[in-house]
This record gives sequence, C-alpha cells and structure tokens, in this order.
Amino acid sequence: MPTMIAVAGNPNCGKTTLFNSLTGLRQKVGNYPGVTVERKEGRLRLEDGSDVPILDLPGTYSLNPGSPDEQLATDIILGNAAHTPRPNLVLCVVDASHLERNLYLVSQIIDADIPVVVALNMVDLAERSGMSIDIPSLSRSLGVPVIPTVASKGIGISELRHALYAGGISRDRRQVWRRLWELPEPVERETEELARILHHANGPSHPAALLEAMNLLAADTAKVDMMERYVPDVLAHVRGAHEKLDFLGFSRHSVFVESRYAWIRSICAGSVRWMPTGAPSWSDRIDSVVTHRFWGVILFVALMGFLFQAMFSWAALPMEWIGNSFAGLGQAVGQAMPPGELRDLIIKGGIGGVAAVVTFLPQIMFLFLFLGLLEDTGYMARAALIMDKLMSRVGLHGKSFIPLLSSFACAVPGIMATRTIDNPRDRLATMLVAPLISCSARLPVYALMIAAFIPPVMIGGFASLPAITMLSMYLLGLIMALGTAWALKKTLLKSGPPAFIIELPPYKIPSLRSILLLMWERAWAFLKRAGTVILGASIVLWFLATYPKTEGGTAADRLNHSYVGQAGRLLEPVIRPLGFDWKIGVGLVASLIQREVFVSTMGTIYGIQDESAGGGNTSLAAKLRGERTADGRPTYTALTGICIMVYYVLAMQCFSTVAVMRRETNGWKWPLFQIGYMTALAYTVTFMVYRAGLALGIGG
Ligand code: GDP
Ligand code: MG
Repeated sequence: MPTMIAVAGNPNCGKTTLFNSLTGLRQKVGNYPGVTVERKEGRLRLEDGSDVPILDLPGTYSLNPGSPDEQLATDIILGNAAHTPRPNLVLCVVDASHLERNLYLVSQIIDADIPVVVALNMVDLAERSGMSIDIPSLSRSLGVPVIPTVASKGIGISELRHALYAGGISRDRRQVWRRLWELPEPVERETEELARILHHANGPSHPAALLEAMNLLAADTAKVDMMERYVPDVLAHVRGAHEKLDFLGFSRHSVFVESRYAWIRSICAGSVRWMPTGAPSWSDRIDSVVTHRFWGVILFVALMGFLFQAMFSWAALPMEWIGNSFAGLGQAVGQAMPPGELRDLIIKGGIGGVAAVVTFLPQIMFLFLFLGLLEDTGYMARAALIMDKLMSRVGLHGKSFIPLLSSFACAVPGIMATRTIDNPRDRLATMLVAPLISCSARLPVYALMIAAFIPPVMIGGFASLPAITMLSMYLLGLIMALGTAWALKKTLLKSGPPAFIIELPPYKIPSLRSILLLMWERAWAFLKRAGTVILGASIVLWFLATYPKTEGGTAADRLNHSYVGQAGRLLEPVIRPLGFDWKIGVGLVASLIQREVFVSTMGTIYGIQDESAGGGNTSLAAKLRGERTADGRPTYTALTGICIMVYYVLAMQCFSTVAVMRRETNGWKWPLFQIGYMTALAYTVTFMVYRAGLALGIGG
C-alpha cells in the first residue's frame, strides 16, 4: 500500500491538471524550505477509503538536474531531500504526443527502483496528430501499468485511481540493479559492479543504487573526486572505472543517454503506429501564418492592440457600476453617521482610497482573460518563437521571453519563471529587466491618467486615442526591457549567444474553466491587496493629510499645512523638473510599496480636498482634470499625465519584486542595482519626455 505518492513529469505534460482532478480541493500550496519552488501537496482517497498524501513535483525532463526545480524533483524521487520522505510510488505523467522525450524521465524513475504508474496523458492530442499507441504493448515494454488519460476532460481518472491503489508494483524489486535496457558490454559490467558496491555502502535506505552508479560513471572525474558523501574506497573505484572506460574510448557522458534513447526508440517503434495524416494539419497551416516573420509580428501587435481597445470599451460599463456602488456606499455612510473625524476617516481614507483602486478590477480581469486565452490556445509559444528573433538580437534566449510575457501579469511570477533559463548570466539579465514590462498593477495608474487627460477621440475610424496611448506604454516597457537586456549582455553580463529550442504545442480549444479559475484567482489577489495594503496605506495617508489640524481656510489650505503637504513640498524641488507637483510627489512616495497605491493616494488626497461630505459623485479623473492653480490655469495637462505614465513604466515601485529578487539572487546586490538603474532610467526618460513635450507646446 502506498504511503506517499509523488506526481512527476516533464513541464506542461498535465501534472497539475491530473493532480487537481485526483485531489479535488484537498490540497495545500506552500514553498519548499530554503528555495522558492512551489510545493503542492494534497490527499488522495483510495478505493479502500484510506487517504494518501500526494505531492505535485516541479516539472523535470530528467533526473540529471540542471535547474533548481529539477534538482528538487530529483532529490525527492531519489530520497535525498531532508524535508520530504522518499515517495514509495511515483505517478509519472507522460505527454503522449511527445512520447519519446517523455519516456526518458520515466525510464530513469524506473531505474531509480521505485514503483511507477504511468498516466499516458494528452492521448487526445496524440490521436489528433496521427499517433496510435498500443497501450498493452507499451506497458509490457516498460514493465509498469500505463493508463491513458485526458486530464483536462477528466477521462481515465477513475482507472488511474484504481491503478494507484493497486500500488503499481509489477517488477521484481529484489534485484535492485536490474535494468530493462542494455549498455555496451564493458559499460554494463562497470555499472553493475558499481551499483552493487553502492548498494552495500548505502544500505537499504538508499535503494537508487543503479541510477546513482550511472550518474557517477557519467560525471567528470574531477567532480566525483570532490563528492564528500562517499568513502575513499568508493571514490577510488569510480576513478578506476573512469580510467578503464576512457581508455576503451567510451564517451562516458553520452553512452548512457544514447543507450537509454535507443531503448526508448525501440519501445516507441513497437508500440506506436503513425496514421497517414496526408495534408499538413490545420495546426501547421495556422502556424505558417502565425509564426511568419512578417505577418506573425503584425498579428502579434494587432492582438495586443485589440486587447487594449477591448479593455476600454467593454470594461467601461462594469467599471461604472463599481464606481457608482462605492459612491452610493460613501453617501449611505455619510447619512448614517454624524459628521466628524471618524466619518471623514471612513469615507475619505477608507472608502475613497479603496474605491479609487477597485474600480479598475474589470480591466484587470480583462487582461487576465486575454492572457489566459492566448496561453491556453497555444498562441503564447508562437509569440515566444516570433520574439526569439528579437531576443537573439539583444543576446538573450527565446526562453527569456516566457518570463517577460508572464511579467505582463506581474513581475514576481515572471522572475520566478526565469528558473528555466540554464545560463546564469542570461537568467540574471532577464530578471533584471522583467520589472520594466508593464504589469497589471500599472494598469490602474495608466487607466486613471488616460481617463483624466487623454480625450476619447477615434483615429482613422478604428483605434481610439486612449487605446493607442495605453498600447504605447506597454510597448515602451517592452522596448526598454529589450534595450536594457542588450546593454547588460554587452557589458556586465557578457556571455555567448544561446541556441533556441522551443516546442510548439498544438493549438487547442481553450478550457474556459481553467481560464475563469485564473481570472478569479487574480481578481481575488487584487481585491485582497485592496482590502489590506491599500486600505492600510489609505488610512495612514488620511491621518498624515489631516494632521496637524489648522483652523479656518479652505480644505485645500488645510491639506497644504498637513504632514503630507509639508513632506510633499520638501520633495517638490526633486520632481519639479519632471513637471510633477507635490501631490503627485506624495503619490510617488506612497506607491513605493506597490504601484496601485498611487491611485488610492490620489483618491484620498482629493477626497480630503473635496469639501462635500459624501466625497461627491465626481470621478477622481474629473477632479484631477478640474484642478486649478492659483491663477486659474489647469494644474495638470495631458503632458503631466503622459509623464506620470512614463515614470510608472520605468520605475521599480514594488516591494514584492524587490523581495523576490533578493530571494532569487541570494543577496541585496542585484535588487539594489535594479532599484538604482530603474529609478535613474525613469527619472531621465520622464525628464526628456517632459522637455520634449514643452518644446512641442503640448504642456501648456
Ligand atoms: P504541468 O505543467 O505538467 O503541471 O501541466 P498543466 O497541468 O498545467 O497542463 C498544461 C496544459 O495542458 C493546460 O492548459 C491543461 O489544460 C492542458 N492539458 C492537460 N491535460 C490535457 C489533456 O489530456 N489533453 C489536452 N488537450 N490538454 C491537456
Ligand atoms: Mg504544474
């Protein structure tokens, strides 16, 4: 009976989807101790009613780890992880449409002498591409149960549950160094000999002797010499074996890989038949346009343009509802409570600040709906392919584009996604520029500035000026990120150009359920932040903007004398060259924690300045537009709005990103460098835009 099941498999083979259907909602998500790899554990109810812990391992291609994710999966499967007991059953998820590549990991796990159940997932895609897999034959060749599944549709789950119950022990497990595949004769002999020695040295608690032997024989001699966990006798034996095999002319590293692949190919040849598909598949035909070097780029830009257009037109109505509900709430509180400090605090500090940010929820949900659709249809991989041309110009790998794409949602997952990049310098360069990509937290800032200062005129009959402005901000971030990466790769982080390999998954109908789930998760995270950080910041700001109290004068005068007013004026000389006044300065400082706080800050400040108790029904955008200087001219112009947006495109303004950078780079050096260069970049570019705007006469 299994006591701990691990789910292993290549990235994107459907592990998490299967894991979710096996466990339902009975799962815990956390981190592995010491590293930032996500740990997902759940409980699986077996047929006899018992509950078994089940662990969703990070995706890995092999048990020869290259990245931290792979290292973790490998350590757990081999029983070398201090924090997690060795699983006694591995559910190995295989992407049937890439059978050969996926079987590599399966065969290594089988060699690690652990019972395996194979879930042959994505059989729908395999069939569509013309593959017909003889499952009994595959199962016989591997010596483990093989269950066909379509995880995204819940097909094969109950069969899988049954196979897991049966425990999947179908090999004779007493012969620890038995192997299903063959090595050239001398290599075979050395491997078995070493496996036997390791098995005795390790004792029964470390049964993965065979795999360990192969890894030791394949490694560099110098590297093996430094391994401290082996006794000198074992090391001497390994050195001797290296010498023998080297003398016989074997390439020790590749002989294992090649022999394993030869076996896998023979299994595939015996179990897979290819149906004639005749004409190129529709997926290929779509790809000839979508990944075209010219039309592909046009399509990419058009899709992004459509996204922003849609965000403005379709999200407008729900945004208005939310705005009205908060205004209604403010008025209700205004009528229910006697006038006084507390009422002011609740309406202007609490409701005002939170409302200013939450209004943008529909646009955020739109962004994620769109990103989810692109991801789930398989388009994202194409976008990465198109971008690879651009990426290699700046000296980066196409792989770096996926983290940059995730950064459109948020730089934190983007930075974590860089773990798949093998070259440490490329990885660092990608992490350093990821926060320049416009994330969803900038959206409220852009949207507020656009609503306030960019007139909704149509250009050429199909594109609105607000949408074009928003798209320009996103493009500015992207271009700056690529430019900075280029500069970094030329100077600090010099290394050769990497080769690009990406697999294009077949197109598919997106799963509405998983996209809605993603939208819901993001919306919830956004609301949670609105209810915590933003609410807290708004309340603190209300106090700072209300005290010390001065008698008489208008609300604006009193604001001027408050702590916020004093601090803002202290800052003003620094930001004056960018065309910013002290109120914007307060917003900039308050939003160092996270960018949306700029919007809630403006909401609170203008709520306080506005004398009507309920906060009034004028939108924040209208208040900004209506702000006048002493001599009656508008305080802010379209140029101010553009400068604020440009500043937010380029400035760091995010504690979470700093924290994740510190964790991922193990120190303060790179996060501080990042804050420094981004602030300098933001300041310089905003200054140039402001001067250029004034010179062109658009700044009034
Ligand atoms: P993981 O990286 O291994 O955890 O993979 P995920 O569970 O995140 O799945 C990757 C993508 O494949 C998701 O978009 C799933 O909806 C999709 N997917 C999972 N299983 C199947 C399947 O059997 N057939 C098809 N067509 N798609 C699947
Ligand atoms: Mg997963």
